[in-house]
Amino acid sequence: MVDYKLLIDGEFVEGSGVIEVINPATEKPFATVAKATEKEAAAAIAAAKKAFPAWSVTPITERQALLSKLADAVAENADKLARLLTREQGKPLAEAMGEMAWTEGYLRHFATLAPQNRIIQDDDDFFIEVRRKPLGVVAGILPWNFPILVACWKIAPALIAGNTLVLKPAPTTPVTTLAFGEFCRDIFPAGVVNILADENELGPFLTSHRDVAKVGFTGSTATGRRIMESAANTLKRLTLELGGNDASIIMDDVDVPDTAKKIFDAAFLNCGQVCLAVKRAYVHEEIYDEMCAELSKLADAAVVDDGLQQGVQIGPIQNAAQYAKIQKFLDGARSAGTIAAGGIVEDRDGFFVRPTIVRDVKDGDDIVDQEQFGPILPLIKFSDVDDVIARANNSEYGLGASVFSRDVEKATQIADRIESGTVWVNQHVNIGPHLPMAGFKQSGIGVEQSIEGLEEYTQVQLINVAKS
Ligand code: NAD
Repeated sequence: MVDYKLLIDGEFVEGSGVIEVINPATEKPFATVAKATEKEAAAAIAAAKKAFPAWSVTPITERQALLSKLADAVAENADKLARLLTREQGKPLAEAMGEMAWTEGYLRHFATLAPQNRIIQDDDDFFIEVRRKPLGVVAGILPWNFPILVACWKIAPALIAGNTLVLKPAPTTPVTTLAFGEFCRDIFPAGVVNILADENELGPFLTSHRDVAKVGFTGSTATGRRIMESAANTLKRLTLELGGNDASIIMDDVDVPDTAKKIFDAAFLNCGQVCLAVKRAYVHEEIYDEMCAELSKLADAAVVDDGLQQGVQIGPIQNAAQYAKIQKFLDGARSAGTIAAGGIVEDRDGFFVRPTIVRDVKDGDDIVDQEQFGPILPLIKFSDVDDVIARANNSEYGLGASVFSRDVEKATQIADRIESGTVWVNQHVNIGPHLPMAGFKQSGIGVEQSIEGLEEYTQVQLINVAKS
């Protein structure tokens, strides 16, 4: 008997094996979940396909009401889900509660949206209308950094648009998503939402299956490329939210302590495992030393521990593979520059790394050019604005970026020249369900959040009626 089962066709099922899920704060298993193979994945797709005809014509007001109920369930069970999330993902309990609040807000916003049809002509001769039709079965493939929030980034637009869904959480974070499956089972008709769990092998089966019409994916750029290849045979619709290497440009006129705090929070939220975290900070040479000292002060003061302990600011890295990757980045950073604060937490269990500030690094160093996706922030010096814009843009990524300056007009002009889907001025990581989130270049394809994100889950159909 496993602790958490798969959700297929409105039933919890055992699957074809058992996955032991590790708590990253202890490195010990804390729960077991059912493992799906292609057999269960095929059953989930078949259930979603069977549920689609009725769900797609369910009145939008009813679909919205059911999504609101899901938001209620998240609110009522936030504490329980958050505790589970901290144990499997590692984030401090306060951040896990924050993820529940974000999730609830996201669901509530999408429960007010509807696909928008548009009449182009309606006169004596013609009635012409653009309609937004659902696509069919959507496969939602999830990462391990925000398991519940990102699950709802797929559930909400897919269901409001009239599609049905098969969700696959990341192998190291299936627990909270399967627990959340209980509400999906109670609220939606059988087969509308199905949830699997795997050990990283089911992705290609889902993304190549002929009964899957669309893939909504959040994860790494490397996997995004593989999904495009695998989906090509059946020309599936894709929304890909991929990696980022967000640059922040900090001008010499800022209030250093205030800006340092904003940068610190945006770099180390969720232990730096955020697609839109600040991942490289370009600091004007006039304030470079002062900024480095302020950030190091914050890093030295941060409380790093098991997220279930009170007052913890930063939990462990989510999984062993990412921990190994971060250790490699630390080694590289140590030889490329100077570690001003932070490093590995020695002599204890758990994948703990203190928030790490690296100074005197430059473009071309791995810690600057690559996405670290962990608690290491490189600080790079600049003196010329045109030069720093070119350096910020010299990346295959283009997800988010920010500019900090007291001169808001000038900062906004700089923002306009940065090649990324979101550019913030005097802030970083301010997102919302009503704000479109897109990636330039290899940070993604399509849009998530907002009405534009909803439209990604629809197909345009033109109805063109000759009246005479
Ligand atoms: P990942 O790409 O390794 O895994 C994501 C998911 O894809 C997992 O569920 C995994 O099992 C599945 N998968 C693996 N191989 C697959 C394949 N061949 N076909 C289909 N699915 C496959 O990513 P991760 O390590 O879980 O997440 C970290 C990355 O995600 C970072 O690069 C980060 O920037 C990115 N991310 C982006 C956003 C965003 O919105 N842009 C949000 C969160 C994370």
